[in-house]
Amino acid sequence: AFPYTGVAGTGNERSFIAIKPDGVQRGLIAEVISRFEKKGYKLVAMKMIWATEEMAANHYDDLKGRPFFPALVKYFASGPIVAMVWEGPDVIKTGRKILGATNPQAADVGTLRGDFCLTTGRNIIHGSDGPESAAHEIGMWFTEKECSAYSRSIDSWIVADN
Ligand code: GDP
Ligand code: MG
Repeated sequence: AFPYTGVAGTGNERSFIAIKPDGVQRGLIAEVISRFEKKGYKLVAMKMIWATEEMAANHYDDLKGRPFFPALVKYFASGPIVAMVWEGPDVIKTGRKILGATNPQAADVGTLRGDFCLTTGRNIIHGSDGPESAAHEIGMWFTEKECSAYSRSIDSWIVADN
């Protein structure tokens, strides 16, 4: 048993990943899921949800003072998102690498933002930036019951135990 928000630094590390409204509108749901799935990470929770501006503001609590905050809240609440929890070794940091830099113009080709978008204000995807934000975000968007702890028969082909 482990906290459903995950245990950073273990094989049960968890990260909150969300396809933002523009990613949903642009038909990139399967592409995003595919990148995490093919890497070997395990999807442990997923739902489509249309966030209210209150939920968006809570999600981006740490950015409250920024000039772009009102626009960000409107953007995040502008349509349904696909909220997910992914699990696996180093998923928080590696998940950020799969996303690419916040500004898509700085994001490397081969990353989701590098390959699929053009501006910071429409950068298609969110990912937790550390263990504390992962715990806050998973706890905010999902209940414990919505996060499934399960093993896959292929796990030992993906992660060696030494
Ligand atoms: P992230 O963790 O890479 O998503 O980046 P941040 O946590 O710094 O910012 C959260 C989100 O706010 C980003 O993904 C962008 O959608 C948005 N954002 C950040 N900086 C700017 C900005 O300068 N202008 C606008 N319009 N949006 C921004
Ligand atoms: Mg962030």
